[in-house]
Amino acid sequence: MSGDLSTKNDSGIPSGCGPLLPLGNANTKPMRQQIFEHVRAAGRATRTDVIRTLGISAGSATALTADLINAGLLREVDSVPRETGRGRPAVALEVIPETNFVIGIKLSDEAHSAVLTDFAGDAVATASLQTPAHPKSLDEILTEVGALMQDVLAAAQKNPNNIAAVGIGMSGIVDHQAGTVPWSPLLATRNSDFAAKFEARFSVPLHLDNDANMLTLAELWFGAGRAKSDFAVVTIEQGVGMGLVIDNRLYRGARGMGLELGHTKVQLDGALCRCGQRGCLEAYLADYALAREAATALHQQANDHHSPNALLTALFTQAKAGNEAAQTIFRRAGRYLSVGLANVVQLFDPALIIISGERMQYDYLYADEVLAEMHRLTLNDGRSACTVETHAWGDLVWARGATALALSAVTDQAVAAIS
Ligand SMILES: [Zn+2]
Repeated sequence: MSGDLSTKNDSGIPSGCGPLLPLGNANTKPMRQQIFEHVRAAGRATRTDVIRTLGISAGSATALTADLINAGLLREVDSVPRETGRGRPAVALEVIPETNFVIGIKLSDEAHSAVLTDFAGDAVATASLQTPAHPKSLDEILTEVGALMQDVLAAAQKNPNNIAAVGIGMSGIVDHQAGTVPWSPLLATRNSDFAAKFEARFSVPLHLDNDANMLTLAELWFGAGRAKSDFAVVTIEQGVGMGLVIDNRLYRGARGMGLELGHTKVQLDGALCRCGQRGCLEAYLADYALAREAATALHQQANDHHSPNALLTALFTQAKAGNEAAQTIFRRAGRYLSVGLANVVQLFDPALIIISGERMQYDYLYADEVLAEMHRLTLNDGRSACTVETHAWGDLVWARGATALALSAVTDQAVAAIS
Protein backbone atom coordinates (compact mmCIF):
# COMPACT_ATOMS: atom_id res chain seq x y z
CA MET A 1 0.00 0.00 0.00
CA SER A 2 1.20 3.49 -0.75
CA GLY A 3 1.49 5.90 2.08
CA ASP A 4 -0.52 8.64 0.38
CA LEU A 5 -4.20 9.40 0.75
CA SER A 6 -5.24 7.96 -2.62
CA THR A 7 -8.52 6.05 -2.75
CA LYS A 8 -7.18 3.88 -5.58
CA ASN A 9 -5.35 0.63 -4.82
CA ASP A 10 -2.23 -0.62 -6.63
CA SER A 11 -4.22 -1.85 -9.62
CA GLY A 12 -5.88 1.55 -10.02
CA ILE A 13 -9.36 0.32 -9.09
CA PRO A 14 -11.24 2.71 -6.82
CA SER A 15 -11.47 1.14 -3.37
CA GLY A 16 -13.89 3.79 -2.19
CA CYS A 17 -13.88 5.91 0.88
CA GLY A 18 -16.21 6.77 3.72
CA PRO A 19 -18.13 4.55 6.11
CA LEU A 20 -19.33 1.26 4.66
CA LEU A 21 -21.86 0.54 7.40
CA PRO A 22 -25.01 2.50 8.19
CA LEU A 23 -24.89 4.84 11.16
CA GLY A 24 -24.88 3.04 14.47
CA ASN A 25 -27.90 4.95 15.73
CA ALA A 26 -30.13 3.86 12.84
CA ASN A 27 -32.59 1.37 14.29
CA THR A 28 -32.23 -1.68 12.08
CA LYS A 29 -34.83 -3.79 13.85
CA PRO A 30 -37.94 -4.73 11.84
CA MET A 31 -40.76 -2.18 12.24
CA ARG A 32 -43.02 -4.80 13.82
CA GLN A 33 -40.45 -5.25 16.59
CA GLN A 34 -39.97 -1.49 16.96
CA ILE A 35 -43.74 -1.16 17.51
CA PHE A 36 -43.74 -3.94 20.10
CA GLU A 37 -40.78 -2.44 21.95
CA HIS A 38 -42.31 1.03 21.85
CA VAL A 39 -45.56 -0.26 23.35
CA ARG A 40 -43.68 -2.21 26.04
CA ALA A 41 -41.50 0.81 26.87
CA ALA A 42 -44.54 3.10 27.08
CA GLY A 43 -46.51 0.56 29.10
CA ARG A 44 -49.58 1.45 27.06
CA ALA A 45 -49.73 3.31 23.75
CA THR A 46 -52.44 4.27 21.26
CA ARG A 47 -51.97 3.65 17.52
CA THR A 48 -51.81 7.42 17.05
CA ASP A 49 -48.88 7.50 19.45
CA VAL A 50 -47.18 4.62 17.58
CA ILE A 51 -47.65 6.42 14.24
CA ARG A 52 -46.27 9.68 15.60
CA THR A 53 -43.32 8.19 17.48
CA LEU A 54 -42.11 5.79 14.80
CA GLY A 55 -43.02 7.99 11.82
CA ILE A 56 -45.01 5.31 9.96
CA SER A 57 -48.29 5.49 8.04
CA ALA A 58 -51.65 4.72 9.63
CA GLY A 59 -52.01 1.77 7.24
CA SER A 60 -48.69 0.23 8.32
CA ALA A 61 -49.49 0.77 11.98
CA THR A 62 -52.86 -0.95 11.61
CA ALA A 63 -51.44 -3.93 9.69
CA LEU A 64 -48.38 -4.46 11.90
CA THR A 65 -50.23 -4.10 15.20
CA ALA A 66 -52.84 -6.56 13.88
CA ASP A 67 -49.96 -9.05 13.33
CA LEU A 68 -48.76 -8.54 16.91
CA ILE A 69 -52.29 -8.91 18.29
CA ASN A 70 -52.97 -12.08 16.25
CA ALA A 71 -49.67 -13.55 17.44
CA GLY A 72 -50.82 -13.08 21.04
CA LEU A 73 -48.11 -10.56 21.93
CA LEU A 74 -50.22 -7.39 22.22
CA ARG A 75 -53.85 -6.70 23.15
CA GLU A 76 -56.23 -3.80 22.89
CA VAL A 77 -57.39 -2.12 26.08
CA ASP A 78 -59.50 0.94 26.87
CA SER A 79 -57.11 3.78 27.46
CA VAL A 80 -57.72 6.43 30.09
CA PRO A 81 -60.73 8.52 28.90
CA ARG A 82 -59.87 12.03 27.77
CA GLU A 83 -60.79 14.46 30.51
CA THR A 84 -62.65 16.81 28.24
CA GLY A 85 -63.69 14.29 25.63
CA ARG A 86 -67.05 12.69 25.14
CA GLY A 87 -67.92 9.21 23.98
CA ARG A 88 -65.75 6.13 24.03
CA PRO A 89 -62.23 6.20 25.47
CA ALA A 90 -59.40 5.80 22.96
CA VAL A 91 -58.25 2.21 22.36
CA ALA A 92 -54.65 1.58 23.44
CA LEU A 93 -52.24 -1.30 23.01
CA GLU A 94 -50.34 -3.12 25.72
CA VAL A 95 -48.15 -6.21 26.04
CA ILE A 96 -49.92 -9.40 27.19
CA PRO A 97 -47.81 -10.15 30.29
CA GLU A 98 -48.63 -13.88 30.42
CA THR A 99 -47.31 -14.57 26.90
CA ASN A 100 -43.82 -15.38 28.18
CA PHE A 101 -41.99 -15.57 31.48
CA VAL A 102 -38.24 -15.39 32.09
CA ILE A 103 -35.94 -15.80 35.11
CA GLY A 104 -33.00 -13.51 35.78
CA ILE A 105 -30.26 -14.65 38.17
CA LYS A 106 -27.30 -12.92 39.77
CA LEU A 107 -24.65 -15.32 41.05
CA SER A 108 -22.59 -14.02 43.94
CA ASP A 109 -20.03 -15.35 46.39
CA GLU A 110 -22.31 -15.58 49.44
CA ALA A 111 -25.87 -15.47 48.04
CA HIS A 112 -27.53 -15.96 44.65
CA SER A 113 -30.64 -13.96 43.72
CA ALA A 114 -33.41 -14.59 41.19
CA VAL A 115 -36.31 -12.61 39.74
CA LEU A 116 -39.11 -14.12 37.66
CA THR A 117 -40.49 -11.55 35.23
CA ASP A 118 -43.44 -11.50 32.84
CA PHE A 119 -43.35 -10.41 29.18
CA ALA A 120 -44.20 -6.83 30.12
CA GLY A 121 -41.08 -6.71 32.33
CA ASP A 122 -42.89 -6.76 35.66
CA ALA A 123 -41.35 -8.79 38.48
CA VAL A 124 -43.71 -11.60 39.51
CA ALA A 125 -41.60 -13.21 42.26
CA THR A 126 -38.11 -13.15 43.76
CA ALA A 127 -35.94 -15.64 45.64
CA SER A 128 -32.47 -15.84 47.09
CA LEU A 129 -30.17 -18.64 48.20
CA GLN A 130 -27.33 -18.42 50.74
CA THR A 131 -24.25 -20.31 49.57
CA PRO A 132 -20.86 -21.10 51.08
CA ALA A 133 -18.31 -18.54 49.89
CA HIS A 134 -15.65 -20.57 48.09
CA PRO A 135 -14.93 -21.24 44.41
CA LYS A 136 -17.09 -24.12 43.16
CA SER A 137 -17.21 -26.62 40.35
CA LEU A 138 -19.63 -25.87 37.54
CA ASP A 139 -21.77 -28.83 38.67
CA GLU A 140 -22.03 -27.40 42.20
CA ILE A 141 -23.01 -23.96 40.87
CA LEU A 142 -25.63 -25.50 38.56
CA THR A 143 -27.08 -27.47 41.48
CA GLU A 144 -27.41 -24.20 43.42
CA VAL A 145 -28.96 -22.51 40.38
CA GLY A 146 -31.47 -25.38 40.10
CA ALA A 147 -32.52 -24.97 43.74
CA LEU A 148 -32.85 -21.20 43.30
CA MET A 149 -34.97 -21.61 40.15
CA GLN A 150 -37.26 -24.05 42.00
CA ASP A 151 -37.72 -21.49 44.77
CA VAL A 152 -38.59 -18.62 42.44
CA LEU A 153 -40.93 -20.83 40.37
CA ALA A 154 -42.73 -21.92 43.54
CA ALA A 155 -43.03 -18.31 44.72
CA ALA A 156 -44.54 -17.34 41.35
CA GLN A 157 -46.69 -20.50 41.19
CA LYS A 158 -45.20 -21.40 37.81
CA ASN A 159 -43.57 -24.54 36.51
CA PRO A 160 -40.39 -24.92 34.42
CA ASN A 161 -42.42 -25.21 31.20
CA ASN A 162 -43.64 -21.62 31.67
CA ILE A 163 -40.09 -20.26 31.36
CA ALA A 164 -39.00 -19.14 27.88
CA ALA A 165 -35.41 -18.24 28.79
CA VAL A 166 -33.05 -17.62 31.70
CA GLY A 167 -30.49 -14.83 32.05
CA ILE A 168 -27.51 -15.14 34.38
CA GLY A 169 -25.00 -12.51 35.38
CA MET A 170 -21.77 -13.37 37.22
CA SER A 171 -18.48 -11.68 37.94
CA GLY A 172 -15.38 -12.53 35.98
CA ILE A 173 -14.57 -12.82 32.30
CA VAL A 174 -17.74 -14.04 30.60
CA ASP A 175 -18.09 -14.67 26.87
CA HIS A 176 -21.68 -13.65 26.15
CA GLN A 177 -21.68 -14.92 22.57
CA ALA A 178 -20.18 -18.33 23.31
CA GLY A 179 -21.92 -18.74 26.68
CA THR A 180 -18.60 -19.71 28.25
CA VAL A 181 -16.76 -18.44 31.34
CA PRO A 182 -13.00 -18.16 30.71
CA TRP A 183 -12.51 -17.09 34.34
CA SER A 184 -14.70 -16.25 37.32
CA PRO A 185 -13.89 -15.94 41.03
CA LEU A 186 -17.01 -18.07 41.65
CA LEU A 187 -15.68 -21.06 39.68
CA ALA A 188 -12.82 -23.33 40.68
CA THR A 189 -12.02 -24.15 37.05
CA ARG A 190 -11.25 -22.02 34.03
CA ASN A 191 -12.98 -22.10 30.62
CA SER A 192 -16.32 -23.45 31.85
CA ASP A 193 -18.80 -24.43 29.15
CA PHE A 194 -21.52 -22.80 31.24
CA ALA A 195 -24.45 -22.27 28.86
CA ALA A 196 -24.16 -25.67 27.16
CA LYS A 197 -24.08 -27.51 30.51
CA PHE A 198 -26.95 -25.40 31.85
CA GLU A 199 -29.13 -26.02 28.79
CA ALA A 200 -28.40 -29.76 28.86
CA ARG A 201 -29.44 -29.91 32.51
CA PHE A 202 -32.49 -27.61 32.56
CA SER A 203 -33.70 -27.71 28.92
CA VAL A 204 -34.21 -23.94 28.70
CA PRO A 205 -32.13 -21.40 26.74
CA LEU A 206 -29.55 -19.51 28.83
CA HIS A 207 -28.18 -16.03 28.16
CA LEU A 208 -25.02 -15.37 30.13
CA ASP A 209 -23.11 -12.15 30.71
CA ASN A 210 -20.82 -10.51 33.21
CA ASP A 211 -22.52 -8.87 36.15
CA ALA A 212 -21.51 -5.30 35.31
CA ASN A 213 -23.33 -5.66 31.98
CA MET A 214 -26.35 -7.03 33.86
CA LEU A 215 -26.44 -4.01 36.12
CA THR A 216 -26.09 -1.70 33.12
CA LEU A 217 -29.04 -3.44 31.44
CA ALA A 218 -31.03 -2.99 34.66
CA GLU A 219 -30.40 0.75 34.46
CA LEU A 220 -31.20 0.82 30.72
CA TRP A 221 -34.45 -1.16 31.04
CA PHE A 222 -35.75 -0.25 34.46
CA GLY A 223 -33.68 2.59 35.92
CA ALA A 224 -32.19 6.03 35.43
CA GLY A 225 -30.63 5.00 32.11
CA ARG A 226 -33.99 4.56 30.35
CA ALA A 227 -33.96 8.19 29.27
CA LYS A 228 -30.22 8.39 28.46
CA SER A 229 -28.67 7.30 25.17
CA ASP A 230 -25.07 7.36 26.45
CA PHE A 231 -24.08 6.49 30.00
CA ALA A 232 -21.65 4.40 32.03
CA VAL A 233 -22.18 2.21 35.08
CA VAL A 234 -19.28 1.55 37.47
CA THR A 235 -19.62 -1.15 40.11
CA ILE A 236 -17.47 -1.91 43.11
CA GLU A 237 -17.79 -5.11 45.04
CA GLN A 238 -16.03 -8.40 44.39
CA GLY A 239 -14.24 -6.58 41.61
CA VAL A 240 -14.47 -3.27 39.84
CA GLY A 241 -16.77 -3.57 36.83
CA MET A 242 -18.07 -1.28 34.17
CA GLY A 243 -20.84 -1.25 31.60
CA LEU A 244 -21.30 1.28 28.81
CA VAL A 245 -24.38 2.21 26.81
CA ILE A 246 -23.76 3.92 23.46
CA ASP A 247 -26.73 4.96 21.30
CA ASN A 248 -29.19 3.19 23.61
CA ARG A 249 -27.35 -0.11 23.33
CA LEU A 250 -25.07 -2.02 25.65
CA TYR A 251 -21.56 -1.89 24.19
CA ARG A 252 -19.87 -5.29 24.44
CA GLY A 253 -16.63 -4.73 22.56
CA ALA A 254 -15.44 -6.68 19.54
CA ARG A 255 -14.45 -9.86 21.42
CA GLY A 256 -17.11 -9.91 24.09
CA MET A 257 -14.57 -9.06 26.79
CA GLY A 258 -16.64 -6.23 28.15
CA LEU A 259 -15.05 -3.16 29.65
CA GLU A 260 -12.62 -4.28 32.33
CA LEU A 261 -12.18 -1.00 34.16
CA GLY A 262 -10.94 -2.94 37.18
CA HIS A 263 -7.93 -4.20 35.25
CA THR A 264 -6.85 -0.90 33.74
CA LYS A 265 -3.45 -0.13 35.23
CA VAL A 266 -3.10 2.73 37.67
CA GLN A 267 0.39 1.82 38.90
CA LEU A 268 3.31 0.26 37.02
CA ASP A 269 4.58 -2.77 38.97
CA GLY A 270 1.96 -1.98 41.61
CA ALA A 271 -0.12 -4.16 43.92
CA LEU A 272 -0.78 -7.74 42.86
CA CYS A 273 -4.25 -8.19 41.38
CA ARG A 274 -6.16 -11.46 41.57
CA CYS A 275 -5.99 -11.55 37.74
CA GLY A 276 -2.25 -12.24 38.16
CA GLN A 277 -1.09 -8.87 36.83
CA ARG A 278 0.12 -5.89 38.84
CA GLY A 279 -1.10 -2.35 39.36
CA CYS A 280 -4.76 -2.91 38.36
CA LEU A 281 -7.31 -0.42 39.70
CA GLU A 282 -9.13 -3.36 41.28
CA ALA A 283 -6.07 -4.25 43.36
CA TYR A 284 -6.55 -0.94 45.23
CA LEU A 285 -10.33 -0.73 45.35
CA ALA A 286 -12.19 -4.05 45.30
CA ASP A 287 -13.45 -5.92 48.37
CA TYR A 288 -10.56 -8.31 48.49
CA ALA A 289 -8.03 -5.47 48.24
CA LEU A 290 -9.66 -3.59 51.12
CA ALA A 291 -10.04 -6.79 53.12
CA ARG A 292 -6.32 -7.50 52.67
CA GLU A 293 -5.47 -4.14 54.21
CA ALA A 294 -8.23 -4.46 56.79
CA ALA A 295 -6.68 -7.64 58.17
CA THR A 296 -3.45 -5.77 58.81
CA ALA A 297 -5.07 -2.64 60.21
CA LEU A 298 -7.33 -4.62 62.53
CA HIS A 299 -4.48 -6.97 63.54
CA GLN A 300 -6.43 -9.97 62.33
CA GLN A 301 -5.46 -12.87 60.16
CA ALA A 302 -7.02 -12.66 56.70
CA ASN A 303 -7.89 -16.30 56.94
CA ASP A 304 -11.02 -18.33 56.57
CA HIS A 305 -12.32 -17.27 59.99
CA HIS A 306 -13.21 -13.91 58.49
CA SER A 307 -14.91 -13.56 55.14
CA PRO A 308 -13.88 -10.44 53.18
CA ASN A 309 -17.36 -9.05 53.87
CA ALA A 310 -17.00 -9.50 57.64
CA LEU A 311 -13.54 -7.90 57.58
CA LEU A 312 -14.85 -4.95 55.56
CA THR A 313 -17.76 -4.45 57.93
CA ALA A 314 -15.33 -4.45 60.88
CA LEU A 315 -13.06 -2.00 59.05
CA PHE A 316 -15.96 0.36 58.35
CA THR A 317 -17.11 0.24 61.98
CA GLN A 318 -13.55 1.10 63.08
CA ALA A 319 -13.33 3.98 60.59
CA LYS A 320 -16.62 5.41 61.84
CA ALA A 321 -15.35 5.08 65.41
CA GLY A 322 -12.34 7.23 64.53
CA ASN A 323 -9.66 4.60 63.83
CA GLU A 324 -7.22 6.53 61.66
CA ALA A 325 -5.68 3.50 60.00
CA ALA A 326 -9.13 2.34 58.94
CA GLN A 327 -10.08 5.79 57.68
CA THR A 328 -6.86 6.04 55.68
CA ILE A 329 -7.62 2.74 53.91
CA PHE A 330 -11.05 3.98 52.78
CA ARG A 331 -9.75 7.42 51.80
CA ARG A 332 -6.95 5.95 49.70
CA ALA A 333 -9.41 3.59 47.99
CA GLY A 334 -11.63 6.63 47.37
CA ARG A 335 -8.74 8.43 45.63
CA TYR A 336 -8.20 5.44 43.37
CA LEU A 337 -11.90 5.47 42.57
CA SER A 338 -11.48 9.15 41.57
CA VAL A 339 -8.71 8.15 39.18
CA GLY A 340 -10.85 5.40 37.65
CA LEU A 341 -13.88 7.66 37.21
CA ALA A 342 -11.78 10.47 35.71
CA ASN A 343 -10.38 7.99 33.17
CA VAL A 344 -13.91 6.89 32.24
CA VAL A 345 -14.89 10.53 31.69
CA GLN A 346 -11.83 11.22 29.54
CA LEU A 347 -12.30 8.11 27.42
CA PHE A 348 -16.08 8.08 26.87
CA ASP A 349 -17.45 11.54 27.78
CA PRO A 350 -20.71 10.01 29.06
CA ALA A 351 -23.78 12.09 29.99
CA LEU A 352 -24.01 10.22 33.27
CA ILE A 353 -21.95 7.83 35.38
CA ILE A 354 -23.92 5.64 37.76
CA ILE A 355 -21.91 4.15 40.61
CA SER A 356 -23.62 1.09 41.99
CA GLY A 357 -22.93 -2.02 43.95
CA GLU A 358 -23.39 -3.77 47.24
CA ARG A 359 -20.73 -1.71 48.99
CA MET A 360 -22.61 1.55 48.69
CA GLN A 361 -22.86 1.79 52.46
CA TYR A 362 -19.13 2.56 52.67
CA ASP A 363 -19.76 6.24 52.24
CA TYR A 364 -16.07 7.13 52.33
CA LEU A 365 -15.91 5.81 48.78
CA TYR A 366 -18.72 8.08 47.62
CA ALA A 367 -17.85 11.19 49.59
CA ASP A 368 -17.84 14.66 48.03
CA GLU A 369 -14.03 14.59 48.13
CA VAL A 370 -14.01 11.60 45.77
CA LEU A 371 -16.11 13.45 43.18
CA ALA A 372 -14.15 16.65 43.68
CA GLU A 373 -10.91 14.74 43.04
CA MET A 374 -12.47 13.15 39.94
CA HIS A 375 -13.28 16.61 38.59
CA ARG A 376 -9.75 17.83 39.39
CA LEU A 377 -8.33 14.95 37.36
CA THR A 378 -10.58 15.69 34.36
CA LEU A 379 -10.21 18.31 31.62
CA ASN A 380 -13.43 20.26 32.08
CA ASP A 381 -12.50 23.73 30.80
CA GLY A 382 -15.62 25.58 29.79
CA ARG A 383 -17.88 22.54 30.05
CA SER A 384 -20.13 21.30 32.78
CA ALA A 385 -18.77 18.32 34.66
CA CYS A 386 -20.10 14.81 34.05
CA THR A 387 -23.04 13.96 36.31
CA VAL A 388 -22.38 11.16 38.79
CA GLU A 389 -25.20 9.35 40.60
CA THR A 390 -24.87 6.65 43.22
CA HIS A 391 -27.48 3.92 43.41
CA ALA A 392 -27.58 1.75 46.51
CA TRP A 393 -29.37 -1.20 45.00
CA GLY A 394 -29.23 -4.77 46.19
CA ASP A 395 -28.62 -8.01 44.32
CA LEU A 396 -32.20 -8.20 43.07
CA VAL A 397 -31.57 -5.26 40.76
CA TRP A 398 -28.69 -7.14 39.14
CA ALA A 399 -31.00 -10.13 38.73
CA ARG A 400 -33.55 -7.83 37.08
CA GLY A 401 -30.88 -6.84 34.61
CA ALA A 402 -30.47 -10.54 33.82
CA THR A 403 -34.21 -10.72 33.08
CA ALA A 404 -33.72 -7.90 30.55
CA LEU A 405 -31.10 -10.01 28.76
CA ALA A 406 -33.49 -12.98 28.59
CA LEU A 407 -36.54 -10.84 27.71
CA SER A 408 -34.71 -9.17 24.88
CA ALA A 409 -33.75 -12.53 23.34
CA VAL A 410 -37.26 -13.96 23.82
CA THR A 411 -38.75 -10.84 22.21
CA ASP A 412 -36.48 -11.15 19.16
CA GLN A 413 -37.63 -14.74 18.69
CA ALA A 414 -41.32 -14.12 19.33
CA VAL A 415 -41.55 -11.25 16.85
CA ALA A 416 -39.38 -13.00 14.24
CA ALA A 417 -41.67 -16.04 14.45
CA ILE A 418 -44.58 -14.01 13.04
CA SER A 419 -44.76 -14.92 9.37
ZN1 LIG B 1 -6.18 -7.22 37.34
